[in-house]
Amino acid sequence: MQQQLLVLVSTPAYSRLNGPLVYLSEQTWPAGTLVRVPLGARETLGLVWAEQAGSDPGHVDKNLRSVLESLDQIGPLSAHWMALMNFAAGYYQRSVGEFALGSLPPQLRDLSNSQLERKLKKRQSLVQSSENPATPALPDLTSEQLQVLTRMAQESGPFVLHGNTGSGKTEVYLRRAAEVLTQDDQAQVLMLVPEINLTPQLEVRVRQRFAHLGESAIVSMHSGMTPAQRLNSWLSAHTGQARLVLGTRLAVLASMPHLKLIVVDEEHDPSYKQQEGARYSARDLAVYRGQLESAQVILGSATPSLESWHHSRPAVAGEAAPRYVRLSMPSRVGSGLLPALRRVDMGNQPSKTLVSAPLLNAMRERIAKREQVLVLLNRRGYAPVLHCHACGWKSECPHCSAYRVFHKSDRSLRCHHCSLTQPVPRACPSCGNQDIGALGHGTERIEEHLAELLHDMQRPDGMPLRIARIDADSTRGKGELVRQLAEVHDGDVDVLVGTQMVAKGHDFRRVTLVAALNPDGALFSADFRAPERLFALLLQAAGRAGRDATLTRDQACEMWVQTFHPTHPLFESLKQHDFAGFAEQHLTERRQAGLPPFSFQALLRAEGRTQEAAQAFLNAAKASGETWLADQSLAVTVYPAVPMGLQRVANVERAQMLVESHSRKALQLFLSHWQNELQDLRGQHKAVLRWAIDVDPLVI
Ligand code: ADP
Ligand code: ZN
Ligand code: ZN
Repeated sequence: MQQQLLVLVSTPAYSRLNGPLVYLSEQTWPAGTLVRVPLGARETLGLVWAEQAGSDPGHVDKNLRSVLESLDQIGPLSAHWMALMNFAAGYYQRSVGEFALGSLPPQLRDLSNSQLERKLKKRQSLVQSSENPATPALPDLTSEQLQVLTRMAQESGPFVLHGNTGSGKTEVYLRRAAEVLTQDDQAQVLMLVPEINLTPQLEVRVRQRFAHLGESAIVSMHSGMTPAQRLNSWLSAHTGQARLVLGTRLAVLASMPHLKLIVVDEEHDPSYKQQEGARYSARDLAVYRGQLESAQVILGSATPSLESWHHSRPAVAGEAAPRYVRLSMPSRVGSGLLPALRRVDMGNQPSKTLVSAPLLNAMRERIAKREQVLVLLNRRGYAPVLHCHACGWKSECPHCSAYRVFHKSDRSLRCHHCSLTQPVPRACPSCGNQDIGALGHGTERIEEHLAELLHDMQRPDGMPLRIARIDADSTRGKGELVRQLAEVHDGDVDVLVGTQMVAKGHDFRRVTLVAALNPDGALFSADFRAPERLFALLLQAAGRAGRDATLTRDQACEMWVQTFHPTHPLFESLKQHDFAGFAEQHLTERRQAGLPPFSFQALLRAEGRTQEAAQAFLNAAKASGETWLADQSLAVTVYPAVPMGLQRVANVERAQMLVESHSRKALQLFLSHWQNELQDLRGQHKAVLRWAIDVDPLVI
């Protein structure tokens, strides 16, 4: 007898096929079963969402198409997982089909059933290694670690674990994971990290710690894996074979039927927010998922996001209970001292100074003692702009509203937005003047400049100094980053120049001096989250330093900041290593300004052939949205359309509009209504290429 099944397929949010489609089937499968179905002229992967409610077999619609086959050898996805997909799609304004099927490994879609069958067989034939190594000897917990772990064993959370770098947070994650895995021999643990390629040390540590579970019990999940590796990890997690999944943001969507603990390390890191397609926050979904599945959630950081900090504020009688529980570990493990902050007032330095004399002297002293120096700069390339002094020509990108960056190593002008790369012109393209110069400085130029400043120095053994640079340019080749980091770890490098990339996650054990050359931009940025990111970056960078236990007290580390605003409160808080003070001050400002977490935001973005076209679409959306809002008396503000900060990229004009409310619920109601209006409007605005909604945007 023919059944009617509701099947989710991947259709983009704006295609109007938002919900599941009805298919016929000879057989019924439980919700969550993967199937193949015809869709238009092609065959596609689908997910059985439910049996058609109230379908009457007597009235089967003859035009319906049939399910082709099922992938039931894989086993259905759980009701929890489907609920997570349903929530996430609704919250981030995408179709459930797009969200759910998009979160599955691509090979499930691309391989035929017989190919899959072979893969599954092969997996089963892989016998588990029988000799399970013993757990390595564990350090005695510090009293802070003990306290935190006791609370975690007694309370459900979610927890915000606030601890300086080196306070032993990772050790807490590992111990808590071990407890959870021991208590229940099916339990699964999900450990999220910002960028797995940047944290190879963590992966090694996790694998060592849980080696006794067998090699196949620990899997990684990140976008750098091959499709085959991704499928394998996903299957391990889905079947429960993987007890611990270590992954980047996409892993929060993995099928883990026995999930009992989710750790989000460096929970403030912006990379947890997907910046294209379905713009979800893995951290926020982790919290939702934890609640859904009764899995404990730990959000760890030395500099929690102000959202998490606010939600974990101490309870006040008479007020609603905070959503998270804050646990703190203020001390560093062992004798590791926190670096002292030194500020150089650049107002007292000769103009155009890149590296001030006091900083240079301090660097020389460190290098002379064979200690390492880390220099941070937020721009890669040699110089951000090339400039003709005669006629004022600048190296604008013809396709973007941005300058092309001068890269000296290959003498190219490169646009960091559309990738247009051209050789540096010999003379000014506008007036022919041969004397064109570089404006501003990037990592390449600083690397060169430091080599000049330090050319008279050598190592005690007479060898020349080594100055290295790590940024997106120097690490393009596969394995390059790991190789370069290894050189730094081996002490082969005296001075390391890098972008924020180097501030994340590494143990630079012999680094005793960290310098931020020019952090002022973030102090007065239009982006209200810029100071928060700067504080996190500087504290994290400082935390990289001096983690070598053999360093003595007089080798105490230093963090140097060159600034025109040495008395800025941000640097005062940094000097005291006072994240709480910094957070309180900024939360007060945010409360006064009505910014998140005291309000909720979304952006509507549009891209068009012209800026007018993009804005016209947005303003029409505003008009129709406001009519509805007035009707519903919902307090949601829709601001006027403005060009995006980077207005034109690859000849596409971009505009955006901020939507804000003090009520998350009101904002959500509005967005889901607006979604339909936008789809209609889009048809009337043919010059609009794309539009998208970004809920809880990180960059405005
Ligand atoms: P975090 O994650 O907060 O930066 P880690 O957990 O990585 O801190 O700990 C920092 C260093 O201290 C690591 O080398 C770790 O092995 C060590 N460590 C952590 N806890 C202890 C402990 N209880 N006793 C001794 N060493 C510890
Ligand atoms: Zn010129
Ligand atoms: Zn460009």
